[in-house]
Amino acid sequence: MYLKSIEVQGFKSFANKTVLDFSPGITGIVGPNGSGKSNISDAVRWVLGEQKVKQLRGASMQDVIFAGTATRRPQNYASVSISFDNSDHALSLPYEEITVSRRLYRSGESEYRLNGSECRLKDIHELFYDTGIGKEGYSLIGQGQIDKILSGKAEERRALFDEAVGIVKFKRRKDLAEKKLEEEQANLERIQDIVSELE
Ligand code: ATP
Repeated sequence: MYLKSIEVQGFKSFANKTVLDFSPGITGIVGPNGSGKSNISDAVRWVLGEQKVKQLRGASMQDVIFAGTATRRPQNYASVSISFDNSDHALSLPYEEITVSRRLYRSGESEYRLNGSECRLKDIHELFYDTGIGKEGYSLIGQGQIDKILSGKAEERRALFDEAVGIVKFKRRKDLAEKKLEEEQANLERIQDIVSELE
């Protein structure tokens, strides 16, 4: 699996539809200060479901929408799509190529899509569990983040290792099963109370 392309439109400094195609291997993005290099990694973070505006270097989520310049009107929405080559089926969907998209309108309306079909943010999170790609994954290392990881809490460091060895989805399933078990236990106790009242 590898990142095949990123398409941005109306996202931060990218007013026009812009497509970046990648090949397997290493790609470097170079450009003058303020030309939009970090906006590209912000776009990847955002489309994978980033909800924290601080991580996107803005004050509100609407700040990701192209705000206009002296010669260009602002855009009404921001849209980002990223496509992965999935010919090795590393992502558990039966497609050779997987495209994740997110769109946000100034009105606050937003949507996520997987290969063109509307989906929930949860579906995107679940698709990328244990791949290192999700918004919390280790594949996106921001400036100053290595320092934060090294000086952070042991549990935070542990979360990175859990993701790398691929046990996050099992932990999540275990948490959900335990929660369900607790609910069922509470139901059982209620039923036992009713039965003993009737006896
Ligand atoms: P550096 O090399 O200094 O880190 P960079 O190439 O990474 O710079 P970015 O931080 O990606 O640059 O881009 C900053 C530019 O994006 C600024 O010119 C800023 O005005 C522009 N920008 C950010 N958000 C928006 C927005 N919503 N609308 C229009 N332009 C925006």
